[in-house]
Amino acid sequence: MTAPLRSHTTPEVRALLADPLLRDLSHGLGGPYHALLPARFDANAGAFGRALAEAGVDGTVYFAKKANKAAVFPERAAELGLGVDVASHGELREALAHGVRGTDLVVTGPAKSERLLRVAVLQGALVAVDALDELDRLAALASGLGRTARVLLRRLPPGPPSRFGLDDAETRAALRRCADGPVDVAGFSFHLSGYDVRQRADLAGRLVRDCRDARELGLHPDRISIGGGFVVDYVGAEDWRRFTAADRSEHYHAGRTFPGGWYPYHSPVAGADALRAILAAVPAGERDSLAGLLRAAGVRLLVEPGRALLDQAGCTVFAVQGVKDRDGYAILTVDGTSLSLSEQWFGSEFLPDPVLVPGVPDAGSAAGPYPACVGAASCLESDMLTWRKIPFPVRPAVGDLLVYLNTAGYQMDSNESPFHELPLPPKVVVEQVSDGTAARLRWHLDRHP
Ligand SMILES: *Cc1c(COP(=O)(O)O)cnc(C)c1O
Repeated sequence: MTAPLRSHTTPEVRALLADPLLRDLSHGLGGPYHALLPARFDANAGAFGRALAEAGVDGTVYFAKKANKAAVFPERAAELGLGVDVASHGELREALAHGVRGTDLVVTGPAKSERLLRVAVLQGALVAVDALDELDRLAALASGLGRTARVLLRRLPPGPPSRFGLDDAETRAALRRCADGPVDVAGFSFHLSGYDVRQRADLAGRLVRDCRDARELGLHPDRISIGGGFVVDYVGAEDWRRFTAADRSEHYHAGRTFPGGWYPYHSPVAGADALRAILAAVPAGERDSLAGLLRAAGVRLLVEPGRALLDQAGCTVFAVQGVKDRDGYAILTVDGTSLSLSEQWFGSEFLPDPVLVPGVPDAGSAAGPYPACVGAASCLESDMLTWRKIPFPVRPAVGDLLVYLNTAGYQMDSNESPFHELPLPPKVVVEQVSDGTAARLRWHLDRHP
């Protein structure tokens, strides 16, 4: 049998799991829902700020908005003085509407639309330019508007082929085109897939050198963005070790295999600590740490975490609608679809075990584990929330709640659709309030329709 993968929790998560509100919301909303815990977003943002301050580095944290569509996170970002990373006109509109100032936005993504660039220029947002033709379009637009566009030049990373960024020759050409005219080169940027600290530190070192080189051309770049990709730690080291050591196809419904592999659900250095490690690393070809290089060159560090700011900032609650026995394991059917758990998009699945909250207190069932996979309320074989036969400690029953923890980063809504005419799970913001002496949980819908 597969080893358990017990999700880390926080006091906020444990309070919600133990509170009658969890079930009342499932009942009241009549289906699955996402619970958002913005206090954790605030705490994560604070941790990133401290990592920069401790290293003596001037920096700005931009929340990468694509990781979750909720309103509450850009609202928090605006209040906390964070920037927001947007990559579409819709995301830009949302960020502005929730109170983020245009000058606190960075616009990323390739070949941006005309109307996105136009509003970005008018709002004084930073634009990460990905190609020379985009730079030309932006220059023409800015001069037509009589404004200056502020840009980061996105650099092509070394290593495996990437469709993003400017190579060395294109970067030189871009700098020449910006030497006079309506485009101000504020700095350079990259965003890497994967979570490697060393690769980020090395490339950041190169971007600091890019700033120095561009200054010799008479330009004034003073910042670099190292993008996102700060890994999140979902489960403990021992659970992850046991799981990966024994992982095989019999542990999954229908013998399903996942050739693409898994997100690294355990990482000893994660979130703001990954930023600390990047700042402390000595980039290739340098003698000082990245923090030292940034200070010496007077260069600001921009970071764009998405997933890491949302670590433990939400969970997703389904109700068990059916339990069917099958060759030594059970197939649970819940009241929603795998589209509300978006890791399926990558041909993978979200591995941390969901927590079973029994509908009736333990009716004295014999000790588990009870292996079960989790299917969706649709007619597709492939619509499974979890193919893995999760080792549940008690026997799942109709009416139990199944709570997937730590889903705010990318899992909630990147794939959601009202497939089968099933309504999208609403997002509910849950906060702890204290009335006099007693603390209690209070909720509101993320958006008031
Ligand atoms: C997606 C993205 C991010 C956020 O990545 P995370 O892995 O969620 O931290 C940051 N910057 C850019 C340009 C992105 O495309």
